[in-house]
Amino acid sequence: MARIFLALILLLTLACASAQQRHNYLAVDGDLVDAAGPYYFIEHGDSANAFARAAPLAEAMGLKVEYLADQRVLRFTDGFRTARFRATSDVAAGLVKAPGVVSVDPPVEGESTLASPMAILVDGVSYVPIAPLARAFEGESGWVGDRRLVTVDTATRFGYAIPRPRTGITDGVSRVAVDIPASAGYQVAADGSTLLLVFPGARSEDVSLTIDDANLTTLSVGNGNGTVSLAVRTRHELDPAGRGFRVGEVDKGDVRTVYVDFAPGLVGAAVMALATGDAPAAPVVEAPVALTTVPEQRQVVVIDAGHGGHDPGASSRYATEKWVVLSVALKLKALLEREGIEVILTRGDDTFLTLQQRSLFSSSDRNVFVSIHANAAHSASAHGIETFVFGEPLEPGMIERAIRENGGGAEGEALTAEARRVATDLAGDILREAQLNFSRSLAESVQRHLVSATGAADRGVRSNLFYVIRNARIPAILVELGFVSNPEEGRKLATEAYQQTLARALADGVLEFLRNGGITAQR
Ligand SMILES: [Zn+2]
Repeated sequence: MARIFLALILLLTLACASAQQRHNYLAVDGDLVDAAGPYYFIEHGDSANAFARAAPLAEAMGLKVEYLADQRVLRFTDGFRTARFRATSDVAAGLVKAPGVVSVDPPVEGESTLASPMAILVDGVSYVPIAPLARAFEGESGWVGDRRLVTVDTATRFGYAIPRPRTGITDGVSRVAVDIPASAGYQVAADGSTLLLVFPGARSEDVSLTIDDANLTTLSVGNGNGTVSLAVRTRHELDPAGRGFRVGEVDKGDVRTVYVDFAPGLVGAAVMALATGDAPAAPVVEAPVALTTVPEQRQVVVIDAGHGGHDPGASSRYATEKWVVLSVALKLKALLEREGIEVILTRGDDTFLTLQQRSLFSSSDRNVFVSIHANAAHSASAHGIETFVFGEPLEPGMIERAIRENGGGAEGEALTAEARRVATDLAGDILREAQLNFSRSLAESVQRHLVSATGAADRGVRSNLFYVIRNARIPAILVELGFVSNPEEGRKLATEAYQQTLARALADGVLEFLRNGGITAQR
């Protein structure tokens, strides 16, 4: 356990250093598996079904995994059992979270299918629902709230299985009995109306029973960290000194039956007093799976020319941002329409739109959102092209840029803060993760074409808290075409010829992305 805490502290330190937000953690048999996730459908209001990257999770669980592309099946095996998850992978049709089953062979506890959300394949990365995978291999998955930790305990971790407890009442005395290996140990604690039997190194199915006889109300069995806890609730008061119950054992060779009798007048041996908070944790409740509608497959590109109207954006004696980006946007529209692509402009003339109005254009029935801007800097020597995806900037100084593009002044700071909240709230969201992967692919494609077509300095693909792309449901980028404040670049940006070159390169970058189905690299 100390190892987990140390690793967590290290991880949190690293996370702060790189200015990235992490909400939750995943541990398999006590070891953090940082590369695996977890991820959630946070935007679907579902934080109960945690997903993980399939490859690192399988490795941590001692499983082999392969993707059977022809069947769209993610297949896990431990050499004895196989578990097959159907996967949704048609990203062009929209990301879908769908209910499904995992097929297991041989069956687990008599069941050959277990309920599970479908696995997901996005941009070459497979994501698998964690709890169903753990169950398919007779392991357990849990949630440690105070450490924000999703746990997976594989079956190999547990010493023995405890069958369902037996209950009955005879002559006014209620009995709860459970069979364990003769070599296994256990502990008993009691207080108030609760008696707890704890079996270290054991595993069991979770059980929640209403008994409702003369002495008992409920019985529940919970798992956690390789320990099974059996809690019995009584109608009468229990005294750990041994009043109100009696613990006994029956040896049957390899098996030992542990039983507890309950009645108000019973007197038995003293047990430990039950400390508050020792009750077994409630099992993780999984929220119902929401099914999203699948949008029609169309090729629609949204082009957002920055600023406009009373907002000139960056300006210098050489060029004004709002005119440069409008001209490039109109040229880009013509080029894409020539390729049969539907283009939607947020503005087609010198009109001012708020960033909120602009971001509404990035709805999920469109394929790509491209926001076009130009830069300015105090230093006249600054020059070059850069393309942004949404996210916390890695260089703290970059935040000034976000504030300026988010409207500047107090409004720019407020919108930047709101964008930061979005980045924090959605850290770990599987759809956001996928959308960011695609946005990066799009950004890399566009940046490469822009730099090679213009010969401009390559300032790279970066992330920043640009409000206009904060909530995009589709791949969304913000391009800075160059610095109007640089004498050479500023003069070029004002020319029709250079604007046409930029538009052609933007079109080539977007087309390459769309034609590859949004995938530029397998990870
Ligand atoms: Zn701008």
